[in-house]
Amino acid sequence: MSFVVHGLAVSRGIAIGRAVIVASSRIDIAHYFIRPEQVEAEIERLRTARNAVVDEIVRVQHGLHEQGPQDAHPELTALLDVHLMLLQDEQLTNGVKHWIVERHYNAEWALTAQLEVIARQFDEMEDPYLRERKADLEQVVERMLRSMRGVASPMASPLEPADVDTETVSQQASPLVLVAHDLSPADMLQFKQSVFAGFVTDVGGKTSHTAIVARSLDIPAVVGARSTSHLVRQDDWVIIDGDAGVVVVDPSPALLAEYTAKQRQGEVERERLARLKNTPAVTLDGQKIELLANIEQPHDIPAVLRAGAVGIGLFRSEFLFMGREGRLPDEDEQYQAYRNAVEGMQGLPVTIRTVDIGADKPLDRHQRDDHLNPALGLRAIRWSLAEPAMFLAQLRAILRAAAHGPVHLLIPMLAHAGEIRQTLALVGRAREQLDQRGQVHGPVRLGAMIEVPAAALTIPLFLRHFDFLSIGTNDLIQYTLAIDRADESVAHLYDPVHPAVLQLLASAIGQCHANGKSVSVCGEMAGDVAMTRLLLGLGLRSFSMHPSQILAVKQQILRCDTGKLAAWAQSVLHADEPAALMND
Ligand code: PEP
Ligand code: MG
Repeated sequence: MSFVVHGLAVSRGIAIGRAVIVASSRIDIAHYFIRPEQVEAEIERLRTARNAVVDEIVRVQHGLHEQGPQDAHPELTALLDVHLMLLQDEQLTNGVKHWIVERHYNAEWALTAQLEVIARQFDEMEDPYLRERKADLEQVVERMLRSMRGVASPMASPLEPADVDTETVSQQASPLVLVAHDLSPADMLQFKQSVFAGFVTDVGGKTSHTAIVARSLDIPAVVGARSTSHLVRQDDWVIIDGDAGVVVVDPSPALLAEYTAKQRQGEVERERLARLKNTPAVTLDGQKIELLANIEQPHDIPAVLRAGAVGIGLFRSEFLFMGREGRLPDEDEQYQAYRNAVEGMQGLPVTIRTVDIGADKPLDRHQRDDHLNPALGLRAIRWSLAEPAMFLAQLRAILRAAAHGPVHLLIPMLAHAGEIRQTLALVGRAREQLDQRGQVHGPVRLGAMIEVPAAALTIPLFLRHFDFLSIGTNDLIQYTLAIDRADESVAHLYDPVHPAVLQLLASAIGQCHANGKSVSVCGEMAGDVAMTRLLLGLGLRSFSMHPSQILAVKQQILRCDTGKLAAWAQSVLHADEPAALMND
């Protein structure tokens, strides 16, 4: 039966495909297509894993026998019997084979796809005893997945992002869309080169980091779609409308035709925008606007160059640190990544932000932050200052990369003069250490992010110590309005044009210009075409955003006259309800 779910529009465009439901706890398995000739080998991997788990359970049973009579451990014995029974269950084995043979999923993916199918049947059971067997099934599947980790697939390592064989993909009957309750930013990153044409998650706000990474994938995505992952079944047809924030499940032929036409229209629009790549971003009244890109990894650079960005305004270096199960990148690994970015940009500047871990960006997706209020806790520069050895290694890596091209060093979430002092001292120390080692390093421009009201209200302090400022509106809005940016239940109150936010923004931009210092906005607001006129009117001349947004924002800029916008922006700034004036 067809139905529609509303969520938050995160990444534009329309995706139409079959649902792949993924539980986030099993997200770090690889999802890729195998070639038809690999089907047998993949089934064999599965069989080997199942046999290994059966052997393991039988060994435990024997151990119990040796310890005493069987009824000495009645519960454990019964549990092991249930596990053995589930492993032999035809619905599991035949179902998994179906995904491998018919859909060419790799074994891990097939196993978790079938797990979701059976788990739902358990959920619907009346008998509480049977319902609880779902947990046993999950344990059995986890054991098989663990066992398969030791047996590499001929196609890809289960821990690496999926290798996509485009020939195999084109043989698939239909595109796939991913449906999950939640995905961490690191999970999302894993899907960067994936097979999915779109994403839906039950939770998340528009500027949550998961949403930000989805946007950087440049495929349609909707977050905060409440219970979609429970309502959709494995393999259902789903339409994701990333412009309207709507998910249509099991659409009628008429709806399907309507969305297919919209999809085509979107493609035509993109082709048209692509022609603006080399057009300078200059307003009607001749103001030159700087359009920079936000990236998560050096791999994003080709997209940056394709979009015609004039530099990187925000390299979120924390993505190098995430999802590594505690093994942080050392100085050399970081240096290589930063150097790749600098060289890839061919002389254009690269702004590297020091690590911003914490809140909705945990180091490890399985690691729960048990602090009462992680967004107000040890995140960003606070964490770096608490871990000076880690921070110094990162600073040295950035300074070394600066020998290969222009680098700007950006510090997140500063609020106190003491933090500024400590940070600058550590930058100096990192340089001394490199000198002592005789290692080459280059100059950097030093910048601070303005992300908390305390910083926005003390701009002169920052101007005394830094060469440039970058306004992180995602956090500035969150902290000004006391709205968790990742919580969909308060998403309606997350308001980029709240008068308090606009006043902080306007005042920061004005003070920077009055002091001859450059300032940009690198939060999601900068890439939102609905905000371009207002930001230009408030005096902003430098915007940093996902590469996928650059051409659409440039199109807006080419149509604007900043002289005319300034007066209108002042009226918006002083209104009680600025949103009402946004379309004037
Ligand atoms: C911001 O807060 O606006 C910002 C750009 O940083 P992040 O989104 O990574 O917190
Ligand atoms: Mg931030």
